[in-house]
Amino acid sequence: MTTSDVVATGLRCNYLVDPLAIRDGAPAFSWSIEAPRSITQQLAYQVLVASDMKALERDEGNAWDSGKQDGTTVVDVRYEGRALAPLGRYFWKVRIWADSGGPSAWSDVATFEVGMGGTGAWTGSWISWDEHALEFEPASETGPVDQVLLGLAPAPYLRHEFDVANELLYARLYITARGLYEARLNGKRVGDQVLAPGWTDYGARIQYQAYDVTAMLSPGANAIGALLGDGWYSGYFGFQPKRSGAHYGDHPELLAQLHLHYRNGTSEWVVTDGSWKANWGAILHADPLMGELQCSGLDPTGWDGAGFDDNGWRPVVARSQDQTAIVADPGPAVRVTEEVAPHALAPIEDGKVIVDFGQNLTGWLRVAVTGGGGETIRLRHGEVLDAAGHLYVDNLRTARQTDEFWTSGGPEVFEPHFTWHGFRYVEVAGYPGMLAPESISAQVVHSDVEVTGTFGCSDPVVNQLHANIDWGLRGNFISVPTDCPQRDERLGWLGDAQVFARTATYLRNVLAFFDKWLDDVLDAQMESGAFTDVAPRLGLAWCGAPGWGDAGVIVPWTLYKMYGTLGPAARCYDAMTRWMEFIEAGNRDHLRTRELGNNYGDWLAPDGDDTPHELLATAYWAYDATLMSEMATALGRDEDAAQYRELARDIVGAFANAFMDNDGRVMSDTQTGYTLALFMNLVPSHVRSRAADHLVEAIRARQWHLSTGFVGVSYLLPVLSSNGYSDVAYRLLDQETLPSWRYPIRQGATTIWERWDGWSEAKGFQSPHMNSFNHYSLGSVGEWLYRFVAGIDQPPDGVGFERALVRPHPGASMSWAGATFHSRRGPIASTWRRGGGTLTLDVSIPPNVTASVHVPSSDPAGVLDEAGVGPNAVAEFCGGRGTHEAVFEVGPGTHRFVGEYATTGAAIS
Ligand code: BGC
Repeated sequence: MTTSDVVATGLRCNYLVDPLAIRDGAPAFSWSIEAPRSITQQLAYQVLVASDMKALERDEGNAWDSGKQDGTTVVDVRYEGRALAPLGRYFWKVRIWADSGGPSAWSDVATFEVGMGGTGAWTGSWISWDEHALEFEPASETGPVDQVLLGLAPAPYLRHEFDVANELLYARLYITARGLYEARLNGKRVGDQVLAPGWTDYGARIQYQAYDVTAMLSPGANAIGALLGDGWYSGYFGFQPKRSGAHYGDHPELLAQLHLHYRNGTSEWVVTDGSWKANWGAILHADPLMGELQCSGLDPTGWDGAGFDDNGWRPVVARSQDQTAIVADPGPAVRVTEEVAPHALAPIEDGKVIVDFGQNLTGWLRVAVTGGGGETIRLRHGEVLDAAGHLYVDNLRTARQTDEFWTSGGPEVFEPHFTWHGFRYVEVAGYPGMLAPESISAQVVHSDVEVTGTFGCSDPVVNQLHANIDWGLRGNFISVPTDCPQRDERLGWLGDAQVFARTATYLRNVLAFFDKWLDDVLDAQMESGAFTDVAPRLGLAWCGAPGWGDAGVIVPWTLYKMYGTLGPAARCYDAMTRWMEFIEAGNRDHLRTRELGNNYGDWLAPDGDDTPHELLATAYWAYDATLMSEMATALGRDEDAAQYRELARDIVGAFANAFMDNDGRVMSDTQTGYTLALFMNLVPSHVRSRAADHLVEAIRARQWHLSTGFVGVSYLLPVLSSNGYSDVAYRLLDQETLPSWRYPIRQGATTIWERWDGWSEAKGFQSPHMNSFNHYSLGSVGEWLYRFVAGIDQPPDGVGFERALVRPHPGASMSWAGATFHSRRGPIASTWRRGGGTLTLDVSIPPNVTASVHVPSSDPAGVLDEAGVGPNAVAEFCGGRGTHEAVFEVGPGTHRFVGEYATTGAAIS
């Protein structure tokens, strides 16, 4: 008998939908459950994996049949079948047994392919062009001065023709570059990824992508080609100017292998080798920071199709493989995810126009033009305007963010290939005729991470804050989580990533994205065990900084906590252990006072950072030890877990001796000091409430303003709410004047700023040396909006939302608030509304999840659910202060709770 209304959906292999190449090692499967509300739990599952579809249709897992496995797990089910064949194609499906009976029908079939892993099949050569042999003279009188000054070279065009000799069954293109590539087959672009193969430390590991190109090929003559850009490999970014040596190499190279599988059972490879030809064409330069220059008249039309006359083209320079690991790209692709139309066009002098897109974003422009030929359209990108309405670019430092298009006459559409900019405004110069809004649009570019969180409330400014946080993520999650997308930096700073990671996991499905970045973190780790300040690593060997290096422990733990997956923690475990040993080796007395690297402290705290750096460092060390013990326990390493628990105890003791008094006072009395001590459980329980009171005093002393930098701010509001001071948390959120989240929004911010006062009425722009208007770090408050305002959380020991804790903290300044979070088990929603002395809470719980719902109420015993049933228990509400809550234990489905609600609790003044 089957349970026909229950089915597993949303099948993922290694967190991705039907990947065409998987990272080495056994793949991991996950799914979610679609079921009517009567189904509460998955009791067992069965996975079948087959190497051919026919076998799977007969329900034969000829590669793996997991058999019926008891358990509620829907994530990370590891493949345990026959060895997977290199380049193999596999089909899989799953069925489940639920508490309503079972088994369910089989799910739809999903697929995965092994790709090139372990094949030894990378037989192609790295190819590039011989720059010196090409008759291109950027220094000619007509050549743009910037190009000459900056030493920028034209983008190579590489091509090759081949025959498809038999009837094709399917074809796969495996391709990568040192630099960036755009692959072409028979006149068309392959796939929709941009900025591929993404950024890694190219000396350690290069990612390849796999594409299904079956439909792009036809019998007989075919042509394959690629454009190359410098990108992160040989372009400008990360402080270091290219002229003094780019970070990884001095010119881009391509490696590609096309695998043709014929219906007759044979197969054939087309690979990059010395027979390919090279030339330059329309892209006269393309650089991440500097921008792109295109002259459409120089496009070798038809170069990417068969039959093109490439006699004038040069042979490529071919170089055989080296030892660098080439790995399947485990992350989500970078794509254009949205097109934004101009919000306003404002002419300025000399025929220039300032185009306002109404949104600070990362990407580039698409410009349509009908010109007479020979015109130069110049686009300068910036985030803000100055008082005179001109583009303000001082904060870009040496990044030019300028694209130029030379027209060749008639209707044309320009779009760059290998550059990206952080901008809201674009100064357009030289556009022939009137620039119409329909002729220009912004292309939004980022790693294509699915939306998992939505948030709304009665306060439009807070809704704008939420939007700004998400735009900050979109602007900076481009293959790597970066600090900012505009100035000459754009680095994968670990501190920024760790303070924002929990917020990011609510907003978007960033599991595969961070999982990939953790490879960068591991690659970058120093011999000493120190994690670096930035990953991927550059020449800079900065490492060990508290709050930065600790990301190497915090991010794997965050993925475990939020997604219930131990994959990243298991992979990083040895590296994390080495990091813990590194700290301990330098700090035997359990105070982290040495080996602090660049020691950024509570970076960018307004009015100076008064929190002792040793205090911050020691707090993070204790936190690391606690998280390590949790991960070690989950990984079955009980001895390690016990040692880390002991280490945490020792550090907590040393912290209390060195930095706290008997009244819960933390040395220096800063908001950050109290926040870290409370959040990281460093305060003895008998003085916790005293420490919370002192924190509130420290906030009062600032006239209810924040004094926290990057580090302190990320936990401040959660700590206040968890200790009974949600009213103070709201008070900080409601603050209009500097420093506050609302201040930038009042100035029109559409992203999170690096500094609270990036621009202020009193001082104008902050120092141009460090003033990004798109830095997600201070957006770490997003976590509080979900976990505390809407109340979508987990019990302290919960992982992966197997058990949810719904515990909203209504604020006096909001009449309603709500959020939905698509956990890996399904969507969890919570919305509360206040009015007429009552509070109504609507909650939705997906199948296979149970929840404790805590309804705040002035009469908790009187709170009723939709069936008129009262609570399972009543409790004191988070830390007390006169408020109470009704506790309901619920299963999947939608639930409504209504109860009396008066704004209670001692009002803080
Ligand atoms: C970056 C930060 C980073 C910091 C190190 C800055 O230049 O933009 O976000 O974390 O350096 O403190």
